[in-house]
Amino acid sequence: MPRIPVSAAVLRAPGEPLSIETLHLDEPRHGEVMVRTVAAGLCHSDLHYLTGSLDISLPAVLGHEVSGVVEQCGPGVDRVRVGDRVVVTITPSCGQCPECVSGAPTRCSRVGERRRRSEPLLTDGAGAPVTSLGAIGAFAEAIVVPEAALAVVDADIRPDVAALLGCCISTGVGAVIHGAGVGPTDTVAVIGCGGVGMAAIQAARLSGARRIVAIDLHDEKLALAKSLGATDTVLSASGDVREAVLELIPGGVSHVFEAVGRPSTAELAFALLAPGGVATLLGLMPTGSRISLDAAAIVEGDRRVQGSYMGGNRFLADVLTLTDHYRHGRLDLDAMVTGTVALEGIDGGFAAMAAPSSIRTVTSFGEGTW
Ligand SMILES: [Zn+2]
Ligand SMILES: [Zn+2]
Repeated sequence: MPRIPVSAAVLRAPGEPLSIETLHLDEPRHGEVMVRTVAAGLCHSDLHYLTGSLDISLPAVLGHEVSGVVEQCGPGVDRVRVGDRVVVTITPSCGQCPECVSGAPTRCSRVGERRRRSEPLLTDGAGAPVTSLGAIGAFAEAIVVPEAALAVVDADIRPDVAALLGCCISTGVGAVIHGAGVGPTDTVAVIGCGGVGMAAIQAARLSGARRIVAIDLHDEKLALAKSLGATDTVLSASGDVREAVLELIPGGVSHVFEAVGRPSTAELAFALLAPGGVATLLGLMPTGSRISLDAAAIVEGDRRVQGSYMGGNRFLADVLTLTDHYRHGRLDLDAMVTGTVALEGIDGGFAAMAAPSSIRTVTSFGEGTW
């Protein structure tokens, strides 16, 4: 089968700049679709692989939050068509296993099977295989993914905004709506106001939470968090965060969302809980991380800690829900995109993630339009 040359940002060694190379992309095989990349978000999970705090087989193309246009469909593809505008999820679920049919497609037991292929998706100039993160590898001009990884979006949704639906919005909103089931009687605190945290804040507003406390190291982030629905803010750089939150909400918070990905903030999330409260951990933590909790506070106060991988999203249904809320002004996705870079400028984009004014930087391909 012929391979297609694509420009891509390749991770050769952790901590080093990404190298822009021409790779060779396999054609879509049975059940697969080739998508011309239009926009790809820079996620903190990518940054973990970039710095080496999470392992990936190298060389690798990172990127998993992506939108694009269907260019070619392999045999057996019947849900999407050439020309469709699509957004990609990292969990291509089968729809048939016990997890899928019980409404938890992000826990699909056949995701690995869906991603597996007989030939490497990407090879480099020397013909050596190149890993695609999550079988996506979005920092490339084109990708080949299982059809099950795709949701079609309407043309009125901007491609940069659509890309975010694949990871940070699905995760932050999903954790609040599906994972925690926040409602109007709840109080919420969100630790870390990056893309996922800001999405969680907006989802808490959407769910009618009576108080929403944003916690971050930077004043600029907190100001943005207020504009996206936070009712209160706590600057974590100054003083005791727990004390500050308990002063705002005596007795503790009913739902805390940790969107940083550090054991210390996971422990803080638990420490902020009211009796009966639930801490939901969203950030991927460095390999081997452990957290330590007060055992008495778990048992005597009926407190819980839970994970919410990818927000437990139900991708096809959630994309419809999220785009409707966006269109009707209840979910501000435009404000979530705070920077755009070309593929050649992707290292600068990763560096910009540390800026207090940054929520999400998106790599834009071609004209950056559908
Ligand atoms: Zn991500
Ligand atoms: Zn399944």
